[in-house]
Amino acid sequence: MRGYQCLKSIYLTIHNKELEPPVTPDLQFIFDQGNAVGSEARKKYPNGVLVDNPAWDFFGALKKTRKLLKNETEVIFEAAFEYKGCFARADIITYSKETKRWSVFEVKSTTKVKEEHLDDVGLQAWIMANAGLPIEKICVMHLNSDCRYPNLNNLFTEVDVTEELRKRHQSIPPRLTEIFKAVRSESAPDVDIGPHCASPNECPFITHCWVQKNIPEPSVFNLPGIKTKKWDLYAQGIIKLDHPKLSNLTPVQQRVVDVYKSQKRYIDKVEIGKALSTWKFPLVFLDFETINPAIPRYDKTGPYQQVPFQFSAHIWLSPGSELIHKEYLHVSSSDPRPQLIPLLLEACRGEGSIVAYYSAFETQRISEMAEHSQDHKKELEALLNRFVDPLPIFRDFVYDNGFLGSFSLKTVAPTILGEKHSYEGMLVADGSSAQRAYEEIINPETDHSRREQLIEASIEYCKKDTLVMVELVKWLMNETK
Ligand code: SF4
Repeated sequence: MRGYQCLKSIYLTIHNKELEPPVTPDLQFIFDQGNAVGSEARKKYPNGVLVDNPAWDFFGALKKTRKLLKNETEVIFEAAFEYKGCFARADIITYSKETKRWSVFEVKSTTKVKEEHLDDVGLQAWIMANAGLPIEKICVMHLNSDCRYPNLNNLFTEVDVTEELRKRHQSIPPRLTEIFKAVRSESAPDVDIGPHCASPNECPFITHCWVQKNIPEPSVFNLPGIKTKKWDLYAQGIIKLDHPKLSNLTPVQQRVVDVYKSQKRYIDKVEIGKALSTWKFPLVFLDFETINPAIPRYDKTGPYQQVPFQFSAHIWLSPGSELIHKEYLHVSSSDPRPQLIPLLLEACRGEGSIVAYYSAFETQRISEMAEHSQDHKKELEALLNRFVDPLPIFRDFVYDNGFLGSFSLKTVAPTILGEKHSYEGMLVADGSSAQRAYEEIINPETDHSRREQLIEASIEYCKKDTLVMVELVKWLMNETK
C-alpha cells in the first residue's frame, strides 16, 4: 500500500530503513486499536482456525494455509497467499461446501469503506485469486456507527465490494510492475512532495523529503485553513510567505503574511475588549480529557464516541480574587460519567461564563452527557449557553510569528506567555497521551508505581490546560486595559 501511495516511499522503506522514524506511541495506539477490532471480528466465527505464524514467516504461513485449505477448514484467520512475489494475508476467509468457493472478509477499524481499503483488498484478492483460491465474494467488514453498547451484535457492517473490485482487477498488474521497477532501481525514484505525502496515510519520510526540498518554516504550508491550495502555490514556486505573487488570501492568512513581513506582533485591542466585555464573572475555565474507544464500552455509546473521563476547572470569582481549582480523574474501567457529571455540575455552579478553548468540543460532550443522563439533563443543558471561547479571539485579533499558523493552546501559550508555559517534556503532554495514560491507569496489569506516576501526570496535564487558559485570558485583559 505504501507503494501505491508513493514509489519513493516504498523504495526508502526497503533501501533506507534508517530514515524511517520509529513508530510513535500515537501510531502504536492506532495499531493496537486496529488489532483489537480484528480480534473482535474473529469472535463472530468461533470455529475459525488461526494461521498463527508471525508476519515474517512467509513460508510457514503459506504451508499452514495450504493444509487448512486442503482440509476444507470452514473459517481461516490470517490465511497466507503468494503470487509472483506478492504476499497477502487475509483477515478472515470462510468456505462454502455448496459452492466450493471462499468468501473473503477484510476487517477495517473505520466506520465506512474508504477508497484506500478498495486498493488494499483489491490487491489481496488479486493475489488470492491468482494463487488459485476460488473466490465467491469479497467484503469489507467495518465498524457500524449505529451500534450501541452493550449490544455489540451489530458492531460490524459487511459491505460486498466484489463487483467494485472486479472493475479494478486489470489495473493491478501495471501498478505492481511500476512498484517492482521502483524497488529494484539503483536509487530512489525522483518523486516530488505533494498531497500524496499525507494521504491516505502520513508518510514516515516527510521530514526527510521536506529537508531535501528546503521548505522553510514558516511557509505557505503554515497558512491556516490553506487546505489543498498550498499545493497549487507550491507548484507555482510560491513557497515563502514574502513571495510577491502570494495573493487571494483570507483575512487570517493575510495577517499571517503581514506579521511575517513586518516581524511585529498583531493585536487588535479594541476588538479584544469588545469580545471580553460579554464575558461574565465568575469565570469557570474548563477542560475535558476524553476517551473514544473503537469498540464501545460505556452504556449507549457507539464506536469512537468521545466520553469524558477527566476534567479540570479553575474558578475565578472576581477580578481581584484567587483561583479555586476543582478536578476529577476517573481511575477505574467503569463508566466515568456517573461520578464525573455531579462533580462537573458542582464546579460550574453559578451563572458566570464557562471558558473553554475550542469550546465546541466541550459543549458537544456536555450535550451527549445530557442525552445520556436523564437525572442531570436539564442542569447539563443549562451549562451550554454559558460557554465563551478565547480561541476565536486569538484567531481574529492576535497574531505572532511564533504561532506558525496554528492557534492551538499548545502553540499560543508558550508564544504569548513564555516557555515556562510550554508542554515540552511532560509525561502527559497532549490529548492523545492523556488517552494512552488513561488506558494504562485502568489496565489491571499496570504496576502500582507506574499507575501512580500516570495519575499524577494526568492531573498535572489537565490542570495545566485550564491554568494556561486563565493566564492567556489575563493577558488579553491586561492588553485591553
Ligand atoms: S514524503 Fe512524500 S515524496 Fe517523500 S517519500 Fe513520502 S510520500 Fe513520497
